[in-house]
Amino acid sequence: MNETLKTNAGTINFSWKKTIWLYLMMLSIIFIDFSIIGWHDFIINFCLLFLTVGIGHSVGLHRGIIHKSYKTTKGFRKISLYLFVLTGLGNPLNWLKQHYFRDYWQNRKDCPRYFQYKHSLITDYFWNLHLTFIPKDLNRYNIPEEDLSDPTLLWLSKTWHVNYIAFMAIFYFLLGINSMLVATCLRTTIIILGHWYIGYASHKYGYSRHKIKGADESGYNDVLLGLISFGEGFHNNHHSYPTSAKFSSKWYEIDFGWMLVWLLSKLKIIKNVKTQDANLKPSAIPHKTVIWKLPKF
Ligand SMILES: [Zn+2]
Ligand SMILES: [Zn+2]
Repeated sequence: MNETLKTNAGTINFSWKKTIWLYLMMLSIIFIDFSIIGWHDFIINFCLLFLTVGIGHSVGLHRGIIHKSYKTTKGFRKISLYLFVLTGLGNPLNWLKQHYFRDYWQNRKDCPRYFQYKHSLITDYFWNLHLTFIPKDLNRYNIPEEDLSDPTLLWLSKTWHVNYIAFMAIFYFLLGINSMLVATCLRTTIIILGHWYIGYASHKYGYSRHKIKGADESGYNDVLLGLISFGEGFHNNHHSYPTSAKFSSKWYEIDFGWMLVWLLSKLKIIKNVKTQDANLKPSAIPHKTVIWKLPKF
């Protein structure tokens, strides 16, 4: 392991699974004939983005299951986890655990280098997309037992690739190979790289309204990245109010994830929605004025 990455908290290993999956998705793009992409491909992929990234990742796994920012039915929990798998981001249980590890360390001053953002974009590309953290002591992260032993999470953690490949096969039979590659390999590549870049950028530049007391990272907001990421790019807001289902706090912060939460609560699919007004974390200290940080890669 690289010397700078050494930590007593656990080991940071090269992940063959993560790496092979990423390059398999990326390389398959060369087989796409871009000249025959039609309107139906745009419409299908637009809908798939809302379902998989919006409902599966942002609303389902991130706001609902990880941060428990609302209550929902078992059925919706299952559907959202399945939709997360169709993002192609990987094993949902592993994503849940890694989120707990990141939050735990970023909220402390003794944060290991792997979880800090003191490195360049290129370094982050390698660290974030090719390495994985294996903790020495899982208990310190207080991951709820109900999640670690959740049957759907456990089942999908073993079968996520089979489910993804089954989805590919259905697509292939219905719409042919070109549309299938666009809706799977190309879409997943954009999602993986987009998620990675937004995660990096939202710790490096943007504006922030709060500082988290005693934390190593407080994150930044970015109007454009927030808009294209279902609100995930309003990262300082999210660090400040982690249990809020609403990542936006001003009219110009367009949070499609929050719109989906609002819609699902109107449809009575989710309830007891928490927002920042109700649960201001005492450790989130407002700045006197908004702080800006310019991009530096
Ligand atoms: Zn989070
Ligand atoms: Zn963060």
